[in-house]
Amino acid sequence: MTTFSDLGLIEPLLRALTAEGYTVPTPIQTRAIPLLLQGRDMLGIAQTGTGKTAAFALPILQRLDANRIKAKARCPRALILTPTRELAVQIGDGFKTYGRHLGFKHTVVFGGVGQGQQVSAMNAGVDILVATPGRLLDLMNQRHIDLSQVEFLVLDEADRMLDMGFIRDVKVIVAKIGANRQTLLFSATMPEAVMSLAKGILRDYERIEVTPQSTTVERIDQKVMFVAREDKRKLLQHLLSDKSITRVLVFTRTKHAANRVSEHLIKAGIAADAIHGNKSQNARQRSLEAFKSGKARVLVATDIAARGIDVDGISHVINFELPADPESYVHRIGRTARAGTSGCAISFCDADEVADLKAIERTTRQTITVDTSHAFHAGHVATRSDRSRSPGGQPPQGQKPSGEKQGQPRRNRNRRGPSKPWDNRSQAA
Ligand code: AMP
Repeated sequence: MTTFSDLGLIEPLLRALTAEGYTVPTPIQTRAIPLLLQGRDMLGIAQTGTGKTAAFALPILQRLDANRIKAKARCPRALILTPTRELAVQIGDGFKTYGRHLGFKHTVVFGGVGQGQQVSAMNAGVDILVATPGRLLDLMNQRHIDLSQVEFLVLDEADRMLDMGFIRDVKVIVAKIGANRQTLLFSATMPEAVMSLAKGILRDYERIEVTPQSTTVERIDQKVMFVAREDKRKLLQHLLSDKSITRVLVFTRTKHAANRVSEHLIKAGIAADAIHGNKSQNARQRSLEAFKSGKARVLVATDIAARGIDVDGISHVINFELPADPESYVHRIGRTARAGTSGCAISFCDADEVADLKAIERTTRQTITVDTSHAFHAGHVATRSDRSRSPGGQPPQGQKPSGEKQGQPRRNRNRRGPSKPWDNRSQAA
């Protein structure tokens, strides 16, 4: 079995990894670290949850260390561009954790908050800068940040940066960085626009793909509950009466729905919070912290706000509303079963969402087990989906098999493959 020291990492990094309890590198780490240590460019097709942050942070730290220069004011040597504040903070934390014995200075720059502290940090000297594109460009235009010394450039979640309208900003930023650099681009999906961006900025790159597009993470138990739209809130409340559902991310399609669901839960005495793009950055961060610390058992989120949320121990993802595109389904359920644990994903499906469910099943090439063992099962929706009985043969309402507790679904019948961390996820490009 490959170990981190087999990958050629230096002792201060190995020590930090041991302290974090990382024993086995994930597939993306095994494949990316050696070639990044050689200075190669890379195109990584990987979702969050695959260990990609360490896959790029460790070699960057090691290469910075191999050529130590005193941190200069305003001029970072490594730049990581990422779409959201939450991701930026997580990546910054990653550099802090993995680089704790190397003494580099890093800072995180994002919008929605005052710029004073960020400017002071840049003036104090920075080796590694993690930034969202809008604020970075703003500070560059004010001459608080100078990218002329950047040697390592990482574009993280490139597809989401494009979706969020950052493409122009990203291009302007990259144009300020000299050609003599190592460049890495990560994206969960590879639409044409990302591919053309990659071709424009990478040189002689290696392509590494770890989770094939649209393939659902295998160790997640998935099930669908057919329910009338007006019963969804009651069903959610009912499910949450099961205390084995410890940390739940609930997805809605709209910000408005996220607020309404979280307010309903709070009224019902369930500790819940909502996170979406209408909230200020500080409010979003507070909600995330409350969820991480366990103060809020339920976080209700929209797709964009939740992208990349890295909270350990999410026991359940509940799709209160199904997403319009199957890719988002894969991203949503990937928020559970992080770092090698297992997790459950429950999707509510009303009559108007049957087509969305079918699209998800087509894309992920699986049939999601139907759970009829809840009080709000809507037979008419099941009929519309041609699934009045589940493929797994679960009995209709009222005939719950003995020993099966509500909220603790059985493993999907159609599951394949092992349940070990990251097994089965390494795919050749
Ligand atoms: P990422 O894909 O970078 O968001 O990482 C997902 C999660 O996996 C984070 O919580 C990391 O701390 C954790 N992680 C990354 N690499 C490893 C590893 N080799 N062993 C155990 N946990 C890891």
